[in-house]
Amino acid sequence: MSRFFSKKYSGLEPYVPGEQPSDMSRYIKLNTNESPFPPSPKALAYAAQNTRPQNLYSDPESALLTKALADTYGVKPRMVLATNGSDEILNFAFMAFCDEDNPALFADITYGFYPVFAGLNAVPYELIPLREDFSLCVDDYFGKKGTVFIANPNAPTGMPLPVSEIRRLLEADRNRIVVVDEAYVDFGTESSVGLVKEFDNLLVCQTFSKSRSFAGGRLGYGIACEALIADLNTIKYSTNPYNVNSMTSALGIGILTDGEYTRANCRTIMENREFTVRGLEALGFRVLPSGANFIFASSDRIEGGEYYRSLKDRGILVRHFDKERISNWCRITIGTKESMQALLDTTRTLLEEKR
Ligand code: PMP
Repeated sequence: MSRFFSKKYSGLEPYVPGEQPSDMSRYIKLNTNESPFPPSPKALAYAAQNTRPQNLYSDPESALLTKALADTYGVKPRMVLATNGSDEILNFAFMAFCDEDNPALFADITYGFYPVFAGLNAVPYELIPLREDFSLCVDDYFGKKGTVFIANPNAPTGMPLPVSEIRRLLEADRNRIVVVDEAYVDFGTESSVGLVKEFDNLLVCQTFSKSRSFAGGRLGYGIACEALIADLNTIKYSTNPYNVNSMTSALGIGILTDGEYTRANCRTIMENREFTVRGLEALGFRVLPSGANFIFASSDRIEGGEYYRSLKDRGILVRHFDKERISNWCRITIGTKESMQALLDTTRTLLEEKR
């Protein structure tokens, strides 16, 4: 830390992203929940023809993209805000809807960026422990004052919550905002977007990084009632009005026009997920139920950190978290069938070597 670094950030613990090795060809990369498939070829062709000239600023309203998103979800464009990845809309939500009187409320085991956003924005937060089996019980949030952040499906567990539970949470206190982070919703989890017309205390955040194969483009969005989106726009225009660049915006529109490509890829990932779960369970692993493009697995025969390191030594990257409650677990992104077969074969070999 330099002697110039502001005191207000001196205690900040930044988010640690998953490894992005410089030599990709050395690894089967199952550690950061990206899609193994390229973006839709039709979307790339659309973007090549329709990107705004690069000497001009991008459209601060991202009007065409916002309209395309609004049409996709059957809401008004004023109920949508496009952002630089969904991390940005989440940060905006911490800025807009949390303060001393409205602490952030989120699970002890969830997306590791939430406490960082809280720290960055000097927002107090309370951790609400997941139940013993890693399930999230919305009743545990009842009667608490603050802004609720729920990843659905949760990360890194992958466990989904039904919309009926989100509805119960929203109904329990209509004077409290609930942010549902649906980064992984397209892999078999029910979306809460349908509730935004009914509840003015709901913000749903989604991303192009996972199901839509566009992590590198950095495109996310929020959907909520007009008043909440207006608040979030106040934050956006006070930080970065041109937050979505024009190349990303054009490719995003192209991706939305080829929905079948996205849906087909999601089906493949869900099939590969079932294949991987069956294979790991046959090897004695415990795997949590997943509604995401990753699974969370542990074994009595190999400790989580050792499993991660041994896989890495053999060219397979997965994610391990040091946190005590989950230190025996690894999060494994679902990739192609070949990649998952390689994971299972390598795992079998590792276990045999330990005998
Ligand atoms: N929410 C969750 C639960 C995530 O795991 C991620 C990916 N790290 C994000 C949001 C942010 O994704 P992005 O900024 O790429 O949209």
